[in-house]
Amino acid sequence: MVFKNERTFFEMTKAKKVELFHKKYDEAVEKVKKTFSTHYPNYIDGKEVFSSDGEYEVITPINKSIVIGYCQKGTAEDAKRAIASAKERFYKWSRTPYQQRVKIFQKAAKIMSQKKFELAALMTFDNGKNRYEAIADVDEAIDFLNFYSYLMLKNKGFVNKMGKPFPNEDCTSVLKPYGVWAVISPFNFPLAITTGMSTGAMITGNTIVLKPASDTPLMAIKFYEIMREAGLPDGVMNLVVGSGSTVGEELISNPDIAGVVFTGSRSVGKRIFAKMTSDIVKPCITELGGKNPIIVTSKAKLNKAIEGVARSAFGFGGQKCSACSRLIVFEDIKEKFIEGLIQWTKEKVIVGDPTKKEIFMGPVINQKAYDDFVHYSDLAKKDGNIILGGNRCEENELRNGFFVEPTIVDNLPLNHEIIKTELFLPIMAVITVKNLEEALKIANDTEYGLTAGIFTENAKEREYFFDHIEAGVTYCNRTVGGSTGAMVNGQPFGGWKASSSTGKGAGGLYYLQQFMREQSQTIVK
Ligand code: NAP
Ligand code: MG
Repeated sequence: MVFKNERTFFEMTKAKKVELFHKKYDEAVEKVKKTFSTHYPNYIDGKEVFSSDGEYEVITPINKSIVIGYCQKGTAEDAKRAIASAKERFYKWSRTPYQQRVKIFQKAAKIMSQKKFELAALMTFDNGKNRYEAIADVDEAIDFLNFYSYLMLKNKGFVNKMGKPFPNEDCTSVLKPYGVWAVISPFNFPLAITTGMSTGAMITGNTIVLKPASDTPLMAIKFYEIMREAGLPDGVMNLVVGSGSTVGEELISNPDIAGVVFTGSRSVGKRIFAKMTSDIVKPCITELGGKNPIIVTSKAKLNKAIEGVARSAFGFGGQKCSACSRLIVFEDIKEKFIEGLIQWTKEKVIVGDPTKKEIFMGPVINQKAYDDFVHYSDLAKKDGNIILGGNRCEENELRNGFFVEPTIVDNLPLNHEIIKTELFLPIMAVITVKNLEEALKIANDTEYGLTAGIFTENAKEREYFFDHIEAGVTYCNRTVGGSTGAMVNGQPFGGWKASSSTGKGAGGLYYLQQFMREQSQTIVK
């Protein structure tokens, strides 16, 4: 029994098949364009359901006049029916032997792998990820399906013989599912996070109602279709596309919901947690935002650090919960480092249509993010110095989408809003420090604690960093992403402090246990 990461681009590069990678993705782009007129239903108890409130146009952030599909404006009534179906189906699914459940998820992984280029191409339109980020998102979804299957088998369904407190007592610990879980997912990893959370809940024997982000419903629909093709029974997974204020509110208020797993913003997460603990305290797994620092010391290899910081700050336009939004750099190397960082960003962080292979940064997700960018750039100009970017990209066809420049701002006061709050935009603030002690103080001076990175070639500095940093996912010298790019089974992904409610990482050893409760069974002989 082994687990292996999918790593499509890495494997194809190793096998000298990069050209094939591009060909397959380009063909998939043309293929998915032909699907843009599709009207997608919701799915309740295995059946297509159309909302009494009608449907809405899903647009691409690449060009707001292009509709990429029509989805249901699900209602509270739809959510109620979905919950009732999931409740009805729970008994049978929870008693299905775990080996049988695992087979369905392993099959789904195979199907997803076969469809990966189409899924990646559609994702580019759905949320603006470039081809490399989109395929990585699909790969991560496949990894979650395979890894959680692997964990179920490795842990033998989480049934363990316990000790014998008295010689005539035969004691067993059994982890059992809770019931119906609401799964509420964000726009930024529309397949990976949606698949990971849903699989965690279902493979352990719960049934679910999934509500994806309204900006990016298509990946959740594709995931649903794959699960059905893999043999998932009716009503184990119900999919209700609809807004947070209608479908979302029903899911977090309905008494028949046994637990919620949520990834998204801190404000929504706090509200969900409060709701889930307001009467009966129910399990609530919330993975929230970050204000992630990367420290660059005088002992860093500058070229490594430059690439690692730029990739982390501007990968997917800073719209990763793990993105670097605070660069903490030593005074004595600052000038040289910033010069190199600006040069690298100007050369490599090319903004444009993310379906094109040379594009590093696509658009931000929606009009609100596009407007926020202007707001924070103005604030940065007023209270600090913008040393790179700061503008929307409005040349030619880019003005039809939500394109902005990668932006670096220096000289803000330490308590400034841009340094304190998560913006979820390609805006990074620079903070100058004298030494490592000061760097760690500032790195930890945030309510968040998701990811963090350091660039140094010095072992003592590295140890000091790991010993003092308050964050769930930490890296030293990671050029592919100084604070980003966690891999399933490599870097369990979960936050500390305001970044999470449980402190157990997705894609790690303790994730699945959160979806089950323990029963001790004693037989007296
Ligand atoms: P968001 O605005 O909080 O939305 C997340 C989900 O919550 C969406 O499906 C949204 O639906 C739903 N929602 C909104 N209001 C709700 C309500 N009152 N009740 C129930 N559900 C409600 O987050 P986002 O903009 O999609 O994603 C960005 C955020 O996610 C960032 O803060 C980022 O840091 C965080 N994130 C964290 C992690 C992590 O692992 N820690 C990973 C990825 C992202 P609508 O779309 O219909 O509003
Ligand atoms: Mg949002």
